[in-house]
Amino acid sequence: MMDRDNFEKLMTEVKDFVNNKVRPFAGKFEEEEAVPLSLIKEMAERKYLAAPFPAEIGGLELDQVQYGLLTHEIGKGCPSVRALLTVHTSLVGQTLLRMANQEQKDKWLPLLAKGEKIAAFGLTEPDVGTDAKSVQTRYEKQGDHFVITGRKKWITYGHLADVFVIIARNEENVSAFLVERDRENLRTTPIKGLLASRAAYIAEIELNAVRVPEENVIGNLGQGFSYIVNTALDYGRYSIAWAGVSLAEAALEEMVKYARNRSQFGQKLYKFQLIHEMIANAVTKVQTAKSICLQAGEQRNNNADEAIMTTTIAKYYSSKIAMEVATDAVQLHGGNGCCNQYPVERLFREAKIFEIIEGTSQIQQEIISMYGLKKYNRK
Ligand SMILES: Cc1cc2nc3c(=O)[nH]c(=O)nc-3n(C[C@H](O)[C@H](O)[C@H](O)COP(=O)(O)OP(=O)(O)OC[C@H]3O[C@@H](n4cnc5c(N)ncnc54)[C@H](O)[C@@H]3O)c2cc1C
Repeated sequence: MMDRDNFEKLMTEVKDFVNNKVRPFAGKFEEEEAVPLSLIKEMAERKYLAAPFPAEIGGLELDQVQYGLLTHEIGKGCPSVRALLTVHTSLVGQTLLRMANQEQKDKWLPLLAKGEKIAAFGLTEPDVGTDAKSVQTRYEKQGDHFVITGRKKWITYGHLADVFVIIARNEENVSAFLVERDRENLRTTPIKGLLASRAAYIAEIELNAVRVPEENVIGNLGQGFSYIVNTALDYGRYSIAWAGVSLAEAALEEMVKYARNRSQFGQKLYKFQLIHEMIANAVTKVQTAKSICLQAGEQRNNNADEAIMTTTIAKYYSSKIAMEVATDAVQLHGGNGCCNQYPVERLFREAKIFEIIEGTSQIQQEIISMYGLKKYNRK
């Protein structure tokens, strides 16, 4: 954990970075369909890519609440920039930190921390999404190597990444592998025509008998789902929970700005009661979602039993309210909200993604309802 004074200093720096180098350019990154490499380099130099890692491997040693707050600021600037932290730092980095063997940690974590290698997480496939245990990508042992064949789809930062965590199966066994981009027969293709996340190098990965050595297996063979995927998705959900808060808060700020500037019927929009309703609801939703994320962060810091469930609730709730607040933000902007000259048009599209990634809202509802049916079963 970083001490309070240093954390406050860090957050001031992060806000300056976002206000000067991220937020004003989010629309441009989207148009150019790429977060600039120079920005990623700068984030690495500032150690943001290693924010929750220990100092000895180049990290900032942020605890889970602090890390959530850092991603929150970056997410307010640009969801595609924040997405790098979700996949590179949370899904891959934090999972390796917890589940990899010492050699893998020594090899990969300093490279990820410095941004010398960018990492992505390959679970979803063209025909396998929510039912992730049914991945069809196959591996088989050949001597001291594994040979992996299959396709992964929707992989965030997939077209940029240098290394992938690939989830594959052999009969009933699902395992996780580190697969470097430069392995023969691995190809990535960017996915175009996206609703949002356009600057996040989303790609399809084709693995056509890609050979990886034994030392690239993460954890034990056959425990790829129960250990690696579940751990990674838990980190990913925590990140997306904060992403929802970021987006909703950014949309709320745009609502307030517009309501204070735009006049109809001879007065500013913010004077109308129905506008008050939208703003009151948005404030309540943003603050409630933020409180649940903070609670999840505290529980994660304490390794509390409820941490995983609170994280799931936080992800479900904040992605839902992000969509609701972004919808009201467009409404409040009227016709201007439907045009890319105003950020709410982009925020509205970006919000939808959070209800789909890291487990759709429906699957979070399934998990939360199972928990609810037990916990609130008063006899
Ligand atoms: C922008 C973006 C980035 C992504 N990044 C990554 C990444 O980095 N790595 C990665 O591996 N994947 C990534 N994904 C994939 C994402 O995780 C999947 O899209 C998601 O898990 C849903 O899977 P699916 O799209 O196949 O939908 P499906 O599983 O086909 O679901 C379709 C619909 O059916 C519903 N449904 C499915 N099962 C049930 C059920 N049991 N009960 C009720 N409803 C159900 C779903 O909720 C959904 O509404 C990304 C996706 C997007 C859009």
